[in-house]
Amino acid sequence: MIFKNVIRRKRDGLELGAGEIECFVRGLADRSIPAEQVAALAMAVYFRSMSFAESAALTAAMADSGVRMRWDELRGRGPVIDKHSTGGVGDKVSFLLAPIAAACGCFVPMISGRGLGHTGGTLDKLDAIPGYRSMPTLEELRRVVGSVGCAIVGQTDDLAPADRRLYEIRDITATVESIPLITASILSKKIAAGIEALVMDVKTGSGAFMQTLEDARALARSIIAVAEAAGLRTHALITDMSQTLGGNVGNALEIEEAVAFLNGGAREPRLAEVVFALAAEMLLMGKLTSDRASARRRAEAVVRSGEAGERFGRMIAELGGPRDLLANAARYLPRAPLVEPVFPLSDGYVATVEARSVGNVLVALGGGRRVAGEKLDLAVGLSGVACIGARVGKGQPLAVVHARTPEQLRAAGDALRAATKLSDSPVGPPPIVHESLIGL
Ligand code: URA
Repeated sequence: MIFKNVIRRKRDGLELGAGEIECFVRGLADRSIPAEQVAALAMAVYFRSMSFAESAALTAAMADSGVRMRWDELRGRGPVIDKHSTGGVGDKVSFLLAPIAAACGCFVPMISGRGLGHTGGTLDKLDAIPGYRSMPTLEELRRVVGSVGCAIVGQTDDLAPADRRLYEIRDITATVESIPLITASILSKKIAAGIEALVMDVKTGSGAFMQTLEDARALARSIIAVAEAAGLRTHALITDMSQTLGGNVGNALEIEEAVAFLNGGAREPRLAEVVFALAAEMLLMGKLTSDRASARRRAEAVVRSGEAGERFGRMIAELGGPRDLLANAARYLPRAPLVEPVFPLSDGYVATVEARSVGNVLVALGGGRRVAGEKLDLAVGLSGVACIGARVGKGQPLAVVHARTPEQLRAAGDALRAATKLSDSPVGPPPIVHESLIGL
């Protein structure tokens, strides 16, 4: 097959056949299709989209591009279930949800990604934990999930390798925001990981790839439909990303916030709401409770009792990180040399904080990637980001910047002020969970 003709057909808005899609995925995985042709097809899909049949074929072919895991040894011990986010700014939900679900009886092999565009990546955040092996072998992943109940890891070379390459190329060619490409990217990993059920956290708002509720709904529907065609039960919550989630943005800073949450310390209410809503959905899908209210109570109880924190600590230790991370996070997590608050130019209530711009502040600080493979500064970022409705002014900063150089500090302060609009009168917070879409 001459691949240029496949690109041309998609460019002209025609539907690709299963054979053409399989040829694309084979060429992605074995690298026989060069990056420029992959990028050209991704751009054609971005503009022309894909039918349901094309999305389902792309997902299945990418899931089959590596091994497909099975969890036969866990049969009868608990549901094998996962959640995945479509990507946001300050999204540290995975570090909380995986151990909470594990402490409630789920088994969670959580296959995560690196930062994409302006959004942070779970794997980059895990790199802030010294010694943690986020790319274990499949045997090690199996061992840790079986013994601890959860393991948050990256996509090894064996799992959906075609997605891995496509993901990297999309990231640097402005082709991330495509419903069929996001659908296939997420589901290929999840199907390959052999889970029984999936809870999707589909983000909407300025920091999300799907900025409007309508687009987020279309993405959630696409993911549910394609997942179900592949036999994977899926529920989706559409959650708010019109501002950053939680107080901290930055790799080590987000781990620090997650540790404080699991230790029973300060917890940002919007973050807690998203975590417990998703946890309730996981327990319900795993048939561990019969209704959302009791699922939620159970999830909150395992945080209060310290069981979720204990699972997190064991997961870190089993995968090579420090045994006492929960007790001594400050000893292990990298810190930036310059830490300064940024104050607004006038007093007021935060009306909007452009989450995408906040994500880009992190990229400019060196904590997010501009080009594939770039090494990140794991210490930099923002803490205490004021949320919509917060009163800010002379004594109340917009955020605290953690930077490497005085120039970065100044630029981050300017960008943060530009990203924030203030109002003279009080502003109500946006909803946190906008909608839930229930599959099978
Ligand atoms: N998360 C993924 O795994 N893939 C995407 O394309 C977007 C978010």
